Amino acid sequence: MAQLIFKNVNKVYPNGYHAVHDFNMEIKDGEFICLVGDSGCGKSTTLRMIAGLEDITSGEFYIDGKLANQTSSRDRGIAMVFQSYALYPHLTVYENLAFGLTLEGIDADVIEEKVQATAKILGLTDYLERFPRALSGGQCQRVAVGRALIRKVNIFLMDEPLSNLDAKQRVTMRSEIRQIHRSVGATTIYVTHDQTEAMTMSDRIVVMKSGGYVQQIGTPHELYFYPRNLFVAGFIGEPPMNFIRGTVTNGKITKFGLDIDLTPVVKDVKSIEGRDVIFAFRPEAVKLDSAPACYRVKSKVELTELLGDTTNVYATVGEEEKTNVILKVNPHRTPEMNSEFTFYVPHVSSYVFDAETEEIVENDIERR
Ligand code: ADP
Repeated sequence: MAQLIFKNVNKVYPNGYHAVHDFNMEIKDGEFICLVGDSGCGKSTTLRMIAGLEDITSGEFYIDGKLANQTSSRDRGIAMVFQSYALYPHLTVYENLAFGLTLEGIDADVIEEKVQATAKILGLTDYLERFPRALSGGQCQRVAVGRALIRKVNIFLMDEPLSNLDAKQRVTMRSEIRQIHRSVGATTIYVTHDQTEAMTMSDRIVVMKSGGYVQQIGTPHELYFYPRNLFVAGFIGEPPMNFIRGTVTNGKITKFGLDIDLTPVVKDVKSIEGRDVIFAFRPEAVKLDSAPACYRVKSKVELTELLGDTTNVYATVGEEEKTNVILKVNPHRTPEMNSEFTFYVPHVSSYVFDAETEEIVENDIERR
């Protein structure tokens, strides 16, 4: 088990590119952490610094309270799983799992015990004599996880381990990796660009933005309901949050034919008078029937997508000047294309961001 602490950790590559800026975090023993963000935002660089595969340019990195900046990779007690699982094709599953232990000269009966125990955790017991070519993608990925797992480690690092799998296998492996984590308990840092993976797997998520800037660190619930800024609000959630830009006049946004009095959703509406803001709400937050403490919004339906459990409605708000919104509605109440469509946004599901700073405008709403 291991606790990790980052204090002002920075990475500047030899070519001068500043890939990670002031990373600060305390990861608790046994936590499952996802680093999430678009390609190039510094996730792998951060992971590689934890692994000791990249130098830390400045700042401090501690493992269990000991400064580890200079600790060699092999002394950090880590195992890594990468996107390409690179199994040895000419070795059986058993031999692939045993490979590292054999190299270390461990006794055959100890290896046998470890391989059997690992295979049991991963549901690979019936496949030990098979070669990788006779396995599905998901099973190959399980062997790759097994190879890392078989060595007793305190820190488990995974870099996009599911991206080579098809959608269905990804969903299965997601929960399997969580279950493995629960039974093994090693502190796990998992890199992904997929917000759904991050939301479903993590104890806490680190959202990063290009340039290597951490935007917010929090539980999936915190990031979804209490995004600190526009970037996190737009990154977490699918379809993404709706953003309507406007200027606050007399405490209201009146653009696009709207009449949105911001008083119920910000702490001090006077503080944003005259400012450009972004009014935001999630597609799934809208209601189709009038209710108290809601904004009434008129829209025109452009396109509908029936998904079964829900319908995505693509609509426009406004007449001469328009803005696009996406709404998730009850499939039994799918509106006609081109029809006028009124929906309601509860105050408790509304957000206001400052258009210039992109930070959330202070409020004390309890999101329900
Ligand atoms: P991510 O994992 O989020 O996709 P990376 O950590 O791999 O991002 O890369 C972050 C940024 O650092 C990218 O812009 C990438 O081009 C740059 N980068 C990665 N490795 C090097 C390197 N060895 N030298 C210079 N720049 C690098």
